[in-house]
Amino acid sequence: MSTSIESIVLALKEFLGDDQVSTNQTIRELHGRDESYHDISLPDIVVFPKTTLEVSNIMKVANNLKVPVVPFGRGSSLEGHIIPYDKGITIDFSLMDKIIEVREKDLLVKVQPGVTRTQLNKELKKYGLFFSVDPGADATLGGMAATNASGTTTVKYGVMRDQVRDLEVVLADGTIIHTGNLAAKSSSGYHLNGLFVGSEGTLGCFTELTLKIYGIPEFTTAARAVFPTVQNAVEAVTSILQAGIPIARVELVDEESIRQVNHFSDTNYAERPTLFLEFDGNEAGLKQDVEFTKEIMEDHEYEEIQFETDNTARTKLWDARHNLAYAYIHGNVGKKMMVTDVCVPISELAGAVIFARKELEAIGLTGGVVGHVGDGNFHALLMIDMNNPEEVAKADAFNEKIVHYALERDGTCTGEHGVGVGKQKYQAAEHGEALHVMEKIKLALDPNNILNPNKIVKIESLGE
Ligand SMILES: Cc1cc2nc3c(=O)[nH]c(=O)nc-3n(C[C@H](O)[C@H](O)[C@H](O)COP(=O)(O)OP(=O)(O)OC[C@H]3O[C@@H](n4cnc5c(N)ncnc54)[C@H](O)[C@@H]3O)c2cc1C
Repeated sequence: MSTSIESIVLALKEFLGDDQVSTNQTIRELHGRDESYHDISLPDIVVFPKTTLEVSNIMKVANNLKVPVVPFGRGSSLEGHIIPYDKGITIDFSLMDKIIEVREKDLLVKVQPGVTRTQLNKELKKYGLFFSVDPGADATLGGMAATNASGTTTVKYGVMRDQVRDLEVVLADGTIIHTGNLAAKSSSGYHLNGLFVGSEGTLGCFTELTLKIYGIPEFTTAARAVFPTVQNAVEAVTSILQAGIPIARVELVDEESIRQVNHFSDTNYAERPTLFLEFDGNEAGLKQDVEFTKEIMEDHEYEEIQFETDNTARTKLWDARHNLAYAYIHGNVGKKMMVTDVCVPISELAGAVIFARKELEAIGLTGGVVGHVGDGNFHALLMIDMNNPEEVAKADAFNEKIVHYALERDGTCTGEHGVGVGKQKYQAAEHGEALHVMEKIKLALDPNNILNPNKIVKIESLGE
Protein backbone atom coordinates (compact mmCIF):
# COMPACT_ATOMS: atom_id res chain seq x y z
CA MET A 1 0.00 0.00 0.00
CA SER A 2 1.82 3.10 -1.21
CA THR A 3 -0.63 5.75 0.07
CA SER A 4 -0.03 6.97 3.62
CA ILE A 5 -2.52 6.06 6.31
CA GLU A 6 -2.98 9.76 7.13
CA SER A 7 -4.09 10.58 3.59
CA ILE A 8 -6.57 7.67 3.55
CA VAL A 9 -8.00 8.86 6.88
CA LEU A 10 -8.36 12.37 5.44
CA ALA A 11 -10.16 11.03 2.36
CA LEU A 12 -12.54 8.99 4.56
CA LYS A 13 -13.25 11.91 6.87
CA GLU A 14 -14.56 13.92 3.91
CA PHE A 15 -17.84 11.98 4.25
CA LEU A 16 -17.57 10.13 7.60
CA GLY A 17 -17.72 11.73 11.05
CA ASP A 18 -14.58 11.77 13.22
CA ASP A 19 -16.09 9.08 15.47
CA GLN A 20 -16.64 6.81 12.44
CA VAL A 21 -12.95 6.53 11.51
CA SER A 22 -10.48 5.05 13.97
CA THR A 23 -6.77 4.31 14.07
CA ASN A 24 -6.89 3.63 17.80
CA GLN A 25 -4.67 0.68 18.81
CA THR A 26 -7.34 -1.04 20.96
CA ILE A 27 -9.99 -0.74 18.24
CA ARG A 28 -7.53 -2.11 15.68
CA GLU A 29 -6.66 -5.01 18.00
CA LEU A 30 -10.36 -5.86 18.36
CA HIS A 31 -10.52 -6.17 14.57
CA GLY A 32 -7.30 -8.12 14.15
CA ARG A 33 -8.46 -11.48 15.48
CA ASP A 34 -11.42 -13.80 15.18
CA GLU A 35 -12.41 -16.69 17.47
CA SER A 36 -9.84 -19.03 15.92
CA TYR A 37 -6.24 -20.04 16.50
CA HIS A 38 -5.02 -18.16 13.39
CA ASP A 39 -2.29 -15.51 13.75
CA ILE A 40 -3.35 -11.97 14.55
CA SER A 41 -2.83 -9.02 12.16
CA LEU A 42 -4.20 -5.52 12.67
CA PRO A 43 -5.96 -3.28 10.15
CA ASP A 44 -4.54 0.24 9.71
CA ILE A 45 -7.96 1.88 9.96
CA VAL A 46 -11.39 0.79 11.21
CA VAL A 47 -14.49 2.56 9.87
CA PHE A 48 -18.06 2.43 11.18
CA PRO A 49 -20.49 3.37 8.37
CA LYS A 50 -24.16 4.08 9.08
CA THR A 51 -25.60 4.01 5.55
CA THR A 52 -25.23 2.21 2.23
CA LEU A 53 -24.05 5.43 0.64
CA GLU A 54 -21.23 5.71 3.17
CA VAL A 55 -20.17 2.12 2.40
CA SER A 56 -20.22 2.95 -1.30
CA ASN A 57 -18.04 6.02 -0.73
CA ILE A 58 -15.61 4.00 1.42
CA MET A 59 -15.27 1.45 -1.39
CA LYS A 60 -14.69 4.22 -3.97
CA VAL A 61 -11.84 5.65 -1.87
CA ALA A 62 -10.34 2.20 -1.28
CA ASN A 63 -10.63 1.19 -4.92
CA ASN A 64 -9.09 4.43 -6.19
CA LEU A 65 -6.18 4.12 -3.76
CA LYS A 66 -6.00 0.29 -4.07
CA VAL A 67 -6.34 -0.17 -0.32
CA PRO A 68 -7.48 -3.61 0.99
CA VAL A 69 -10.89 -3.70 2.70
CA VAL A 70 -12.20 -6.34 5.11
CA PRO A 71 -15.93 -6.35 5.98
CA PHE A 72 -16.48 -7.19 9.69
CA GLY A 73 -19.65 -8.37 11.44
CA ARG A 74 -19.01 -9.78 14.92
CA GLY A 75 -15.64 -11.40 14.31
CA SER A 76 -16.97 -14.78 15.43
CA SER A 77 -15.73 -16.69 12.39
CA LEU A 78 -13.35 -19.57 12.89
CA GLU A 79 -10.95 -19.72 9.94
CA GLY A 80 -9.24 -16.32 9.99
CA HIS A 81 -11.85 -14.79 7.66
CA ILE A 82 -11.69 -11.25 9.06
CA ILE A 83 -8.00 -11.09 9.90
CA PRO A 84 -6.53 -8.37 7.66
CA TYR A 85 -3.21 -9.96 6.70
CA ASP A 86 -2.85 -7.28 3.99
CA LYS A 87 -3.73 -4.48 6.47
CA GLY A 88 -5.83 -1.60 5.07
CA ILE A 89 -9.39 -0.72 6.13
CA THR A 90 -11.77 -2.86 8.16
CA ILE A 91 -15.46 -1.94 7.72
CA ASP A 92 -17.28 -2.68 10.98
CA PHE A 93 -21.04 -2.96 10.35
CA SER A 94 -22.12 -2.68 13.98
CA LEU A 95 -23.78 0.74 13.47
CA MET A 96 -25.90 -0.65 10.61
CA ASP A 97 -28.10 -2.63 12.99
CA LYS A 98 -31.66 -1.67 12.06
CA ILE A 99 -34.48 -4.11 11.39
CA ILE A 100 -35.91 -2.21 8.44
CA GLU A 101 -39.20 -3.99 7.77
CA VAL A 102 -41.06 -7.11 8.92
CA ARG A 103 -43.30 -8.23 6.03
CA GLU A 104 -45.54 -10.56 8.01
CA LYS A 105 -47.73 -11.56 5.05
CA ASP A 106 -44.74 -12.38 2.84
CA LEU A 107 -42.86 -14.09 5.69
CA LEU A 108 -39.89 -11.88 4.91
CA VAL A 109 -37.76 -9.48 6.92
CA LYS A 110 -35.47 -6.73 5.66
CA VAL A 111 -32.46 -5.97 7.87
CA GLN A 112 -29.20 -4.08 7.90
CA PRO A 113 -26.11 -6.33 8.03
CA GLY A 114 -25.12 -5.57 11.64
CA VAL A 115 -28.33 -7.00 13.12
CA THR A 116 -27.52 -10.11 15.15
CA ARG A 117 -29.55 -13.31 15.05
CA THR A 118 -30.76 -12.98 18.67
CA GLN A 119 -31.66 -9.31 18.14
CA LEU A 120 -33.75 -10.33 15.13
CA ASN A 121 -35.48 -13.20 16.91
CA LYS A 122 -36.35 -10.99 19.88
CA GLU A 123 -38.17 -8.63 17.50
CA LEU A 124 -39.80 -11.40 15.43
CA LYS A 125 -41.20 -13.07 18.56
CA LYS A 126 -43.62 -10.13 18.88
CA TYR A 127 -45.15 -11.27 15.56
CA GLY A 128 -45.14 -15.02 16.41
CA LEU A 129 -42.34 -15.47 13.88
CA PHE A 130 -38.71 -16.57 13.97
CA PHE A 131 -35.54 -16.67 11.87
CA SER A 132 -34.17 -20.19 11.66
CA VAL A 133 -30.38 -20.12 11.25
CA ASP A 134 -28.60 -20.34 14.62
CA PRO A 135 -24.80 -20.63 14.64
CA GLY A 136 -23.36 -21.08 18.14
CA ALA A 137 -22.19 -17.47 18.34
CA ASP A 138 -24.52 -14.44 18.29
CA ALA A 139 -23.30 -13.55 14.81
CA THR A 140 -24.54 -10.75 12.53
CA LEU A 141 -26.84 -11.52 9.62
CA GLY A 142 -24.28 -9.92 7.26
CA GLY A 143 -21.52 -12.22 8.54
CA MET A 144 -23.83 -15.23 8.48
CA ALA A 145 -24.77 -14.59 4.86
CA ALA A 146 -21.13 -14.05 3.96
CA THR A 147 -20.14 -17.43 5.44
CA ASN A 148 -23.32 -19.30 4.41
CA ALA A 149 -23.72 -20.14 8.07
CA SER A 150 -25.95 -22.89 9.34
CA GLY A 151 -26.75 -24.46 12.68
CA THR A 152 -28.88 -26.83 14.66
CA THR A 153 -32.11 -26.18 12.70
CA THR A 154 -30.61 -26.65 9.25
CA VAL A 155 -31.80 -30.24 9.01
CA LYS A 156 -35.36 -28.87 8.73
CA TYR A 157 -35.10 -25.25 7.55
CA GLY A 158 -31.93 -25.15 5.48
CA VAL A 159 -28.73 -23.08 5.45
CA MET A 160 -28.30 -19.32 5.15
CA ARG A 161 -28.29 -19.54 1.35
CA ASP A 162 -31.83 -20.98 1.50
CA GLN A 163 -33.06 -17.98 3.50
CA VAL A 164 -31.72 -15.11 1.37
CA ARG A 165 -34.27 -13.61 -1.01
CA ASP A 166 -32.31 -10.46 -1.82
CA LEU A 167 -29.08 -8.71 -0.92
CA GLU A 168 -28.12 -5.11 -1.41
CA VAL A 169 -24.42 -5.29 -2.21
CA VAL A 170 -21.78 -2.59 -2.57
CA LEU A 171 -19.22 -3.80 -5.09
CA ALA A 172 -15.49 -3.12 -5.02
CA ASP A 173 -15.84 0.07 -7.10
CA GLY A 174 -18.72 1.41 -4.97
CA THR A 175 -21.54 0.36 -7.33
CA ILE A 176 -24.71 -0.63 -5.45
CA ILE A 177 -26.68 -3.64 -6.74
CA HIS A 178 -29.52 -5.95 -5.69
CA THR A 179 -29.00 -9.66 -6.21
CA GLY A 180 -32.65 -10.78 -6.04
CA ASN A 181 -36.20 -9.59 -5.36
CA LEU A 182 -39.10 -10.43 -3.06
CA ALA A 183 -40.68 -13.13 -5.24
CA ALA A 184 -40.68 -16.68 -3.88
CA LYS A 185 -39.09 -17.95 -7.08
CA SER A 186 -37.47 -16.59 -10.20
CA SER A 187 -35.98 -17.95 -13.42
CA SER A 188 -34.59 -14.56 -14.38
CA GLY A 189 -30.85 -14.19 -14.90
CA TYR A 190 -27.90 -15.70 -13.04
CA HIS A 191 -28.44 -16.66 -9.40
CA LEU A 192 -26.47 -13.83 -7.81
CA ASN A 193 -27.88 -14.52 -4.32
CA GLY A 194 -26.22 -17.92 -4.50
CA LEU A 195 -22.93 -16.41 -5.65
CA PHE A 196 -22.70 -13.67 -3.03
CA VAL A 197 -23.85 -15.80 -0.10
CA GLY A 198 -20.73 -17.56 1.15
CA SER A 199 -18.37 -15.12 -0.60
CA GLU A 200 -16.74 -14.19 2.76
CA GLY A 201 -16.40 -10.49 1.97
CA THR A 202 -14.35 -11.16 -1.16
CA LEU A 203 -16.93 -10.02 -3.75
CA GLY A 204 -18.85 -7.19 -2.08
CA CYS A 205 -20.21 -5.68 1.12
CA PHE A 206 -23.78 -6.56 2.06
CA THR A 207 -25.64 -3.48 3.23
CA GLU A 208 -29.18 -4.85 3.35
CA LEU A 209 -30.57 -8.40 3.47
CA THR A 210 -34.09 -9.69 2.80
CA LEU A 211 -34.55 -13.02 4.55
CA LYS A 212 -37.19 -15.71 4.89
CA ILE A 213 -38.84 -16.09 8.28
CA TYR A 214 -41.20 -18.71 9.73
CA GLY A 215 -44.16 -19.00 12.10
CA ILE A 216 -43.17 -20.20 15.57
CA PRO A 217 -44.42 -23.82 15.68
CA GLU A 218 -47.41 -24.55 17.88
CA PHE A 219 -45.64 -27.28 19.88
CA THR A 220 -42.02 -28.16 20.46
CA THR A 221 -40.45 -31.10 22.25
CA ALA A 222 -36.77 -31.64 22.87
CA ALA A 223 -35.06 -34.85 23.85
CA ARG A 224 -31.70 -36.14 24.97
CA ALA A 225 -30.97 -39.72 23.95
CA VAL A 226 -27.93 -41.61 25.22
CA PHE A 227 -26.29 -44.40 23.18
CA PRO A 228 -23.62 -47.02 23.93
CA THR A 229 -21.41 -45.87 21.04
CA VAL A 230 -21.05 -42.98 18.59
CA GLN A 231 -21.80 -45.46 15.80
CA ASN A 232 -25.20 -46.39 17.33
CA ALA A 233 -26.07 -42.70 17.72
CA VAL A 234 -25.12 -41.74 14.16
CA GLU A 235 -26.81 -44.77 12.64
CA ALA A 236 -29.99 -43.88 14.57
CA VAL A 237 -29.91 -40.43 12.94
CA THR A 238 -29.51 -41.94 9.47
CA SER A 239 -32.53 -44.19 10.10
CA ILE A 240 -34.63 -41.27 11.41
CA LEU A 241 -33.87 -39.26 8.27
CA GLN A 242 -34.45 -42.19 5.95
CA ALA A 243 -37.86 -42.70 7.58
CA GLY A 244 -38.72 -39.13 6.52
CA ILE A 245 -39.42 -37.87 10.05
CA PRO A 246 -39.34 -34.04 9.84
CA ILE A 247 -36.99 -33.61 12.77
CA ALA A 248 -36.24 -29.96 13.59
CA ARG A 249 -32.83 -30.47 15.23
CA VAL A 250 -30.51 -33.41 15.79
CA GLU A 251 -27.08 -32.90 17.29
CA LEU A 252 -24.41 -35.39 18.26
CA VAL A 253 -22.34 -34.68 21.37
CA ASP A 254 -19.66 -37.24 22.15
CA GLU A 255 -18.60 -38.48 25.57
CA GLU A 256 -15.74 -36.04 26.16
CA SER A 257 -17.92 -33.11 25.09
CA ILE A 258 -20.71 -34.12 27.50
CA ARG A 259 -18.04 -34.15 30.22
CA GLN A 260 -17.07 -30.55 29.31
CA VAL A 261 -20.76 -29.53 29.20
CA ASN A 262 -21.37 -30.94 32.69
CA HIS A 263 -18.46 -28.92 34.09
CA PHE A 264 -19.49 -25.69 32.38
CA SER A 265 -23.29 -25.78 32.33
CA ASP A 266 -24.13 -27.23 35.74
CA THR A 267 -25.78 -30.28 34.17
CA ASN A 268 -25.52 -33.89 35.17
CA TYR A 269 -25.95 -35.62 31.82
CA ALA A 270 -24.75 -39.23 31.39
CA GLU A 271 -21.21 -39.02 30.01
CA ARG A 272 -21.94 -41.18 26.97
CA PRO A 273 -22.43 -40.45 23.25
CA THR A 274 -25.64 -38.43 23.15
CA LEU A 275 -28.12 -37.03 20.64
CA PHE A 276 -29.89 -33.76 21.37
CA LEU A 277 -33.12 -33.74 19.36
CA GLU A 278 -36.04 -31.42 18.75
CA PHE A 279 -39.42 -31.92 17.09
CA ASP A 280 -41.90 -29.19 16.27
CA GLY A 281 -45.32 -28.86 14.65
CA ASN A 282 -48.91 -29.48 15.70
CA GLU A 283 -49.68 -31.66 18.73
CA ALA A 284 -50.95 -34.76 16.88
CA GLY A 285 -48.17 -34.83 14.27
CA LEU A 286 -45.55 -34.21 16.89
CA LYS A 287 -46.76 -37.12 19.03
CA GLN A 288 -46.52 -39.46 16.06
CA ASP A 289 -43.02 -38.24 15.13
CA VAL A 290 -41.79 -38.71 18.69
CA GLU A 291 -43.22 -42.24 18.96
CA PHE A 292 -41.77 -43.28 15.61
CA THR A 293 -38.37 -41.82 16.52
CA LYS A 294 -38.36 -43.74 19.81
CA GLU A 295 -39.06 -46.99 17.97
CA ILE A 296 -36.18 -46.31 15.58
CA MET A 297 -33.83 -45.48 18.42
CA GLU A 298 -34.74 -48.72 20.16
CA ASP A 299 -33.46 -50.55 17.09
CA HIS A 300 -30.18 -48.71 17.64
CA GLU A 301 -30.02 -49.69 21.31
CA TYR A 302 -30.40 -46.33 23.05
CA GLU A 303 -29.67 -46.53 26.76
CA GLU A 304 -31.67 -43.61 28.06
CA ILE A 305 -34.02 -40.97 26.70
CA GLN A 306 -35.25 -37.83 28.42
CA PHE A 307 -37.96 -35.65 26.84
CA GLU A 308 -38.25 -31.95 27.69
CA THR A 309 -41.50 -30.17 26.80
CA ASP A 310 -41.15 -27.44 29.41
CA ASN A 311 -39.65 -24.25 27.97
CA THR A 312 -37.01 -23.77 30.68
CA ALA A 313 -35.74 -27.35 30.46
CA ARG A 314 -35.58 -27.12 26.65
CA THR A 315 -33.70 -23.85 26.80
CA LYS A 316 -31.24 -25.37 29.30
CA LEU A 317 -30.63 -28.29 26.96
CA TRP A 318 -29.98 -26.13 23.90
CA ASP A 319 -27.95 -23.59 25.86
CA ALA A 320 -25.72 -26.48 26.94
CA ARG A 321 -25.26 -27.46 23.28
CA HIS A 322 -24.69 -23.90 22.07
CA ASN A 323 -22.19 -23.20 24.86
CA LEU A 324 -20.13 -26.28 24.09
CA ALA A 325 -17.23 -24.41 22.50
CA TYR A 326 -17.10 -22.05 25.47
CA ALA A 327 -17.21 -25.10 27.79
CA TYR A 328 -14.00 -26.38 26.16
CA ILE A 329 -12.38 -22.94 26.33
CA HIS A 330 -13.20 -22.48 30.03
CA GLY A 331 -12.16 -26.00 30.89
CA ASN A 332 -8.76 -25.66 29.21
CA VAL A 333 -7.35 -22.31 30.28
CA GLY A 334 -4.23 -21.23 28.40
CA LYS A 335 -5.06 -23.35 25.37
CA LYS A 336 -6.52 -22.23 22.03
CA MET A 337 -9.39 -23.99 20.37
CA MET A 338 -9.05 -25.38 16.87
CA VAL A 339 -12.45 -26.20 15.43
CA THR A 340 -12.58 -27.93 12.13
CA ASP A 341 -15.79 -28.76 10.35
CA VAL A 342 -16.35 -31.12 7.43
CA CYS A 343 -19.48 -32.44 5.77
CA VAL A 344 -20.03 -35.80 4.08
CA PRO A 345 -22.94 -37.57 2.39
CA ILE A 346 -25.19 -38.88 5.15
CA SER A 347 -24.39 -42.52 4.26
CA GLU A 348 -20.70 -41.82 5.06
CA LEU A 349 -21.33 -40.01 8.32
CA ALA A 350 -20.98 -42.86 10.82
CA GLY A 351 -17.63 -43.89 9.29
CA ALA A 352 -16.38 -40.30 9.22
CA VAL A 353 -17.26 -39.60 12.85
CA ILE A 354 -15.70 -42.86 14.04
CA PHE A 355 -12.56 -42.12 12.01
CA ALA A 356 -12.31 -38.64 13.56
CA ARG A 357 -12.84 -39.98 17.09
CA LYS A 358 -10.12 -42.63 16.58
CA GLU A 359 -7.64 -40.12 15.17
CA LEU A 360 -8.36 -37.77 18.06
CA GLU A 361 -7.59 -40.49 20.58
CA ALA A 362 -4.40 -41.37 18.69
CA ILE A 363 -2.95 -37.85 19.00
CA GLY A 364 -3.84 -37.62 22.70
CA LEU A 365 -5.07 -33.98 22.74
CA THR A 366 -8.21 -32.93 24.62
CA GLY A 367 -11.01 -32.66 22.12
CA GLY A 368 -14.41 -33.81 21.01
CA VAL A 369 -16.51 -34.65 18.01
CA VAL A 370 -19.86 -32.89 17.86
CA GLY A 371 -22.11 -31.83 15.11
CA HIS A 372 -25.19 -31.16 13.14
CA VAL A 373 -25.32 -34.81 12.20
CA GLY A 374 -28.67 -34.53 10.44
CA ASP A 375 -26.83 -32.67 7.66
CA GLY A 376 -23.82 -34.99 7.57
CA ASN A 377 -21.86 -32.13 9.14
CA PHE A 378 -19.66 -32.62 12.17
CA HIS A 379 -17.06 -30.59 14.02
CA ALA A 380 -13.93 -31.69 15.78
CA LEU A 381 -12.81 -29.41 18.59
CA LEU A 382 -9.23 -29.60 19.82
CA MET A 383 -7.56 -27.67 22.61
CA ILE A 384 -3.97 -26.81 21.76
CA ASP A 385 -1.08 -24.99 23.36
CA MET A 386 0.00 -22.64 20.57
CA ASN A 387 3.48 -22.39 22.15
CA ASN A 388 3.98 -26.13 21.82
CA PRO A 389 4.98 -26.83 18.18
CA GLU A 390 4.39 -30.56 18.67
CA GLU A 391 0.74 -30.02 19.67
CA VAL A 392 0.19 -27.57 16.82
CA ALA A 393 1.67 -30.03 14.31
CA LYS A 394 -0.49 -32.86 15.68
CA ALA A 395 -3.63 -30.75 15.42
CA ASP A 396 -2.77 -29.68 11.84
CA ALA A 397 -2.14 -33.27 10.81
CA PHE A 398 -5.45 -34.34 12.38
CA ASN A 399 -7.31 -31.55 10.55
CA GLU A 400 -5.73 -32.61 7.27
CA LYS A 401 -6.69 -36.26 7.78
CA ILE A 402 -10.37 -35.63 8.42
CA VAL A 403 -10.60 -33.16 5.52
CA HIS A 404 -9.08 -35.71 3.14
CA TYR A 405 -11.39 -38.40 4.51
CA ALA A 406 -14.36 -36.15 3.64
CA LEU A 407 -13.02 -35.17 0.20
CA GLU A 408 -12.33 -38.79 -0.74
CA ARG A 409 -16.03 -39.49 -0.13
CA ASP A 410 -17.29 -36.55 -2.22
CA GLY A 411 -17.82 -34.39 0.83
CA THR A 412 -16.54 -30.88 1.50
CA CYS A 413 -13.69 -29.43 3.59
CA THR A 414 -16.17 -27.17 5.38
CA GLY A 415 -19.92 -27.57 5.81
CA GLU A 416 -20.51 -24.22 7.47
CA HIS A 417 -17.53 -22.39 8.96
CA GLY A 418 -16.11 -21.43 5.59
CA VAL A 419 -12.69 -21.18 4.01
CA GLY A 420 -11.03 -18.01 5.32
CA VAL A 421 -7.34 -18.80 5.35
CA GLY A 422 -7.56 -22.09 7.27
CA LYS A 423 -9.26 -24.16 4.57
CA GLN A 424 -7.67 -22.41 1.59
CA LYS A 425 -5.08 -25.15 1.04
CA TYR A 426 -7.90 -27.65 0.30
CA GLN A 427 -9.66 -25.54 -2.34
CA ALA A 428 -7.76 -26.95 -5.31
CA ALA A 429 -8.32 -30.54 -4.16
CA GLU A 430 -12.02 -29.92 -3.62
CA HIS A 431 -12.85 -27.76 -6.64
CA GLY A 432 -10.27 -28.63 -9.31
CA GLU A 433 -10.83 -26.54 -12.47
CA ALA A 434 -13.83 -24.84 -10.84
CA LEU A 435 -11.39 -22.98 -8.58
CA HIS A 436 -10.11 -21.13 -11.67
CA VAL A 437 -13.69 -20.14 -12.46
CA MET A 438 -13.94 -18.71 -8.95
CA GLU A 439 -10.69 -16.79 -9.46
CA LYS A 440 -12.05 -15.32 -12.69
CA ILE A 441 -15.28 -14.26 -10.99
CA LYS A 442 -13.25 -12.63 -8.23
CA LEU A 443 -11.13 -10.69 -10.72
CA ALA A 444 -14.15 -9.64 -12.80
CA LEU A 445 -15.89 -8.18 -9.75
CA ASP A 446 -12.81 -6.92 -7.93
CA PRO A 447 -10.05 -6.30 -10.51
CA ASN A 448 -7.80 -4.56 -7.97
CA ASN A 449 -8.19 -7.47 -5.53
CA ILE A 450 -9.00 -5.15 -2.62
CA LEU A 451 -11.96 -7.00 -1.05
CA ASN A 452 -10.74 -9.34 1.70
CA PRO A 453 -7.74 -10.26 -0.45
CA ASN A 454 -6.26 -13.75 -0.36
CA LYS A 455 -9.26 -15.30 1.37
CA ILE A 456 -10.96 -18.25 -0.39
CA VAL A 457 -8.92 -17.70 -3.60
CA LYS A 458 -5.38 -16.47 -4.12
CA ILE A 459 -5.37 -14.23 -7.14
CA GLU A 460 -1.72 -14.61 -8.10
CA SER A 461 -2.47 -18.26 -8.99
CA LEU A 462 -4.73 -17.20 -11.90
CA GLY A 463 -3.68 -18.89 -15.09
CA GLU A 464 -1.54 -21.52 -13.39
C1 LIG B 1 -18.78 -20.63 19.71
C2 LIG B 1 -18.97 -20.56 18.23
C3 LIG B 1 -19.88 -21.40 17.63
C4 LIG B 1 -20.09 -21.34 16.24
N1 LIG B 1 -21.03 -22.15 15.67
C5 LIG B 1 -21.27 -22.06 14.35
C6 LIG B 1 -22.29 -22.85 13.75
O1 LIG B 1 -22.96 -23.65 14.40
N2 LIG B 1 -22.50 -22.69 12.43
C7 LIG B 1 -21.80 -21.79 11.67
O2 LIG B 1 -22.07 -21.67 10.47
N3 LIG B 1 -20.82 -21.05 12.22
C8 LIG B 1 -20.55 -21.14 13.53
N4 LIG B 1 -19.59 -20.35 14.09
C9 LIG B 1 -18.80 -19.45 13.24
C10 LIG B 1 -19.36 -18.02 13.09
O3 LIG B 1 -20.23 -17.68 14.15
C11 LIG B 1 -20.07 -17.87 11.75
O4 LIG B 1 -19.13 -18.04 10.71
C12 LIG B 1 -20.78 -16.53 11.56
O5 LIG B 1 -21.54 -16.59 10.38
C13 LIG B 1 -19.84 -15.33 11.49
O6 LIG B 1 -20.61 -14.14 11.66
P1 LIG B 1 -19.95 -12.78 12.16
O7 LIG B 1 -21.02 -11.75 12.21
O8 LIG B 1 -19.19 -12.98 13.40
O9 LIG B 1 -19.00 -12.48 10.94
P2 LIG B 1 -17.44 -12.14 10.94
O10 LIG B 1 -16.69 -13.17 11.64
O11 LIG B 1 -17.26 -10.74 11.37
O12 LIG B 1 -17.17 -12.25 9.38
C14 LIG B 1 -17.26 -13.47 8.71
C15 LIG B 1 -17.03 -13.26 7.22
O13 LIG B 1 -18.10 -12.49 6.69
C16 LIG B 1 -17.63 -11.32 6.05
N5 LIG B 1 -18.62 -10.27 6.32
C17 LIG B 1 -19.06 -9.84 7.53
N6 LIG B 1 -19.99 -8.90 7.38
C18 LIG B 1 -20.15 -8.72 6.04
C19 LIG B 1 -20.96 -7.86 5.22
N7 LIG B 1 -21.83 -7.00 5.75
N8 LIG B 1 -20.83 -7.95 3.88
C20 LIG B 1 -19.98 -8.83 3.31
N9 LIG B 1 -19.18 -9.64 4.01
C21 LIG B 1 -19.27 -9.59 5.36
C22 LIG B 1 -16.26 -11.06 6.67
O14 LIG B 1 -15.41 -10.35 5.80
C23 LIG B 1 -15.77 -12.48 6.90
O15 LIG B 1 -15.21 -13.00 5.73
C24 LIG B 1 -19.35 -20.40 15.47
C25 LIG B 1 -18.43 -19.56 16.08
C26 LIG B 1 -18.23 -19.64 17.45
C27 LIG B 1 -17.24 -18.69 18.08
